[in-house]
Amino acid sequence: MKFNPADRIQDLQYFGEFGGVNPSISDSSTYTFLSAKTMFDTFEGNTEGCYLYSRHSSPSNLYLGEAMAALEGTETANVTASGMGAISAVIMQLCNAGDHIVSSRTIYGGTYAFMKNFLPKFNIKTSFVDTTNIEKVEAVITENTKVLYCETISNPLLEITDIKALAALAKKHNLPLVVDNTFSPLSVAPATLGADIVIHSLTKFINGSSDAVGGVVCGTTDFCLGLKDVNDGAGMLLGSTMDSLRAASILKNMRTLHIRIKKHSENAMYLAENFEKNGLKVVYPGLKSHTGHKTMKKQMNQEYGFGGMLTVDVGSLDKANKLMEMMQEKNLGYLAVSLGFYKTLFSAPGSSTSSEIPEEEQKQMGLSDGLIRFSIGIDNDIERTYERMKSCMQELKIVN
Ligand code: PLP
Repeated sequence: MKFNPADRIQDLQYFGEFGGVNPSISDSSTYTFLSAKTMFDTFEGNTEGCYLYSRHSSPSNLYLGEAMAALEGTETANVTASGMGAISAVIMQLCNAGDHIVSSRTIYGGTYAFMKNFLPKFNIKTSFVDTTNIEKVEAVITENTKVLYCETISNPLLEITDIKALAALAKKHNLPLVVDNTFSPLSVAPATLGADIVIHSLTKFINGSSDAVGGVVCGTTDFCLGLKDVNDGAGMLLGSTMDSLRAASILKNMRTLHIRIKKHSENAMYLAENFEKNGLKVVYPGLKSHTGHKTMKKQMNQEYGFGGMLTVDVGSLDKANKLMEMMQEKNLGYLAVSLGFYKTLFSAPGSSTSSEIPEEEQKQMGLSDGLIRFSIGIDNDIERTYERMKSCMQELKIVN
């Protein structure tokens, strides 16, 4: 049967303590044991059915983890306090001093800064390459390489990595492939294509209401239990734990994810096609002109579309800033970082979310000053939004 993540989430059944249709929120940081022996066993790693302390796990966090594992088709998942909490814990778990990472050169600025500026403190080095080119990836793998890392749809350039091909390369070199799938929940399920670990910033589409920060690591039971190990688990010891109240609220928002993603995708496709017709330089994986269009089509779950992210290059930072300010003034969205909100969000990544990447490298990877990254909202009438956006662009002489 076809893997449909939304159906798998729908099939989960929860009951609260008193028969509520939502699971009860675990409002405790610590848990009692009926016998001292069970507490000892739990510390020894026999945690089955027992809760110890909420930095380790809590019922609410396990419920959200279960839904995330259903979404990604992995054995299990650990939720974390943020996307960066998930990324840093995974990397620290997989790498020791002296190790090497091969990462996509276009990734979220925070991940880039973590690998480029922070990990060298532990003598962990990263080679940043174009992961859309498998030969280039293979060329930089050394005997010290311990991780292959990429984003399914990269932030902010929206490059598409062929996950199956990269997973085959990872297998050949016996390396774990870690994929950040923040831009494409439901649309792509990297673990079903061979990725070993899938990460999300739950802050974005999955929560969808820009009121929470969260993350998740989806993977094997072995790996996820390892992250929580009281003796050497990076999740447990670095402490990027999600709060139970937050886990409960994100789980409730996940129930509308399939409807929201379809609308984000439908609206983004409409705007991308029309902006392109207006002669703008648009990048959207759903456009035939996108270099990764065929790869995306091959690996996506068609029903959820090409996602809600697109970029438009308006030529200069000054024009980009003027356009974003005008669109905000006319209530077409917010000049804000982040993504996955009901309203459109826009920012110029070169001077915001990717500003950690030095200017010279930004240029090399094709991140130009005038680039605006849009996270398209779930506007009811996207034609109306388009007409109003176009009139802003006309006023600023960006289109005719
Ligand atoms: N991964 C991607 C692709 C992102 O865009 C972001 C944040 O913008 C992160 C990870 C980090 O997530 P968080 O802000 O939840 O730590």
